[in-house]
Amino acid sequence: MNNTEFKYQLEQFADIKILRYRVPHFEELPLQQKKLLYFLGEAALCGRDIIWDQNYKHNLKIRQLFEHILINYTGDKNNKPYSALAVFLKRIWLSNGIHHHYSMDKLTPEFTESNLLALMKQCQSEAPISETELKEIMPVIFNPGIDNKRVSLDTSSDLIKSSANNYYQNISQKEVEEFYNSKEQKNPSTPISWGANSTLIKEGETITEQIWHSNGKYGAAIKQIVFWLKKALDVAENTKQEDLLKLLIQFYETGDLQLFDQFNILWVSELDADIDFINGFIEVYGDAMGIKASWEAVVQLKDEEATKRTETISKNAQWFEDHSPVDKRFKKSEVKGVSARVINATILGGDCHPATPIGINLPNAEWIREQYGSKSVTIENITHAYHMASLKGGMLDEFAYSEEEKERAKQYGYDSGNLHTDLHECLGHGSGKLLPDVSTEALKNYGSTIEEARADLFALYYMIDPKIVELGLLPNEDAAKSEYDNYIRNGLMTQLVRIEPEKNLEESHMRNRQLIAKWAYENGKTENIIERVSENNKTYFVIRDYHKLRNLFGQLLAEVQRIKSEGDFNAAQELVETYGVKIEPALHSEVLERYKKLNLAPYAGFVNPQYTPVFDKDNNITDIKIEYVDSFASQMLHYSSNYSFL
Ligand code: ZN
Repeated sequence: MNNTEFKYQLEQFADIKILRYRVPHFEELPLQQKKLLYFLGEAALCGRDIIWDQNYKHNLKIRQLFEHILINYTGDKNNKPYSALAVFLKRIWLSNGIHHHYSMDKLTPEFTESNLLALMKQCQSEAPISETELKEIMPVIFNPGIDNKRVSLDTSSDLIKSSANNYYQNISQKEVEEFYNSKEQKNPSTPISWGANSTLIKEGETITEQIWHSNGKYGAAIKQIVFWLKKALDVAENTKQEDLLKLLIQFYETGDLQLFDQFNILWVSELDADIDFINGFIEVYGDAMGIKASWEAVVQLKDEEATKRTETISKNAQWFEDHSPVDKRFKKSEVKGVSARVINATILGGDCHPATPIGINLPNAEWIREQYGSKSVTIENITHAYHMASLKGGMLDEFAYSEEEKERAKQYGYDSGNLHTDLHECLGHGSGKLLPDVSTEALKNYGSTIEEARADLFALYYMIDPKIVELGLLPNEDAAKSEYDNYIRNGLMTQLVRIEPEKNLEESHMRNRQLIAKWAYENGKTENIIERVSENNKTYFVIRDYHKLRNLFGQLLAEVQRIKSEGDFNAAQELVETYGVKIEPALHSEVLERYKKLNLAPYAGFVNPQYTPVFDKDNNITDIKIEYVDSFASQMLHYSSNYSFL
């Protein structure tokens, strides 16, 4: 299957696009690895209902009712209330509940209470809901005043009472604070994350924790997770992986948070296996108090090609440092590259599905990070899916000037974009040095913009160097050109779609990109290195000389490194304020208008592949088949009927 045949975007509704991702080379894996991925994948799916219940106490019931109507409705499926319910259900699926996954606001249905009752009456079977339950959830669905925010960060009100999530019951913020402040830390250098895996409940005057474990709350789902983790034990890739799986199983069976810490300590040190996973109560964004951890899972397979790429870069780190256009006084005599871990997801689950992050850095316990380190991954097949979908989204056609530029972007844009990121991360940030006595804080509020500019310029300067082709990192110079096109287009125009009218640039990565692109445009004007073209009332920035542009990047890199090394605050301020902050109003509104016409969805959710074991006559698994599901609704219904344990 090649890229042009595979459909990355399946559909779009409300503010959501549904994408799917591929798992390169899955078919070629040895059976043991396929089995490990499959078992870990099942463990990742079995916790789905936990996140639904964590997000809001009525979520599971509401999902059940709506799915019942979707399947059993006998009336005209083209009628408005039915279609509105189908869209609403998709939005709920995407958010793992009735609150928007990003804004946390309660979703508003585009049908009424009487519509819903009428739809229920026209079903071929009775709804799986009692009269009392129905009375309870109707106002929840239709009254915007009830439980309207999943996580409230408004500190003027009680954070617990104003948040709709299901981590606490009948308890005030003050009582929660008192409860956890009184928890003892026997060893302050290895503090336990008290409360991370429990629901805190007040009944009468008694406050109790319901711990999430095999025989406690969420036990039915956790038992299933454990069942599959035990299967994974038998096919683990090495003994360390086996040991850490055992610790995770023990944690799930006991709810003992110390075991989860021990698991994490072992997990950060396991770096040899091709297959890795996240599975547990991890992130605390779903709780305004930052105590309770949502359940999530990601199963990962190392990306061989991308890992080779970052290894090649790291191995040659000294060459890049020695040949940079920076003043000798600011160079490191000995430089070490960083090897980033690039993986492909094989299954996303819990809080990481259907919406998912593109990079993850764990564990969260600060003391484990300091004493044992952390693991950081970028999920290559997810960023790839985003990229492929974006090619069809129309941004490129709208903002790229020539057919040549568009073709180059389609052919090389993804690879050269990745190489830019790798050079930025593996070399850029690690290059150069401060002069003695210069403080790391010298550039104050301009420090992070200057630092990002330094890393980006390092990447841009080398992108088009013959050394890159020589090392096999890019196929030819055209690939480098496509990154230059993209950088200038984004820095001067397309990134502005994320900024509201009349606002300036605030975020340091965005400031850095405009700083570089605008500085290069202004400073190349006399030689027409980047030309501003206006055609049919549309603005384009067109690169006329790529090698002269490279020289400009080199000049700016030398200057930015000087500013950083000498701690020249005034120069940093001048550079950032002149080129990186202000947006030309007319250009901004033009860009926003052109973007609006494309009708793109700002958020994405993913459909997982489906894995099916093949058995021989003695019931042994002989293979695992991978299939790319093409319907979001059917995957969600499949999950609801096969992985509903609560
Ligand atoms: Zn950076």
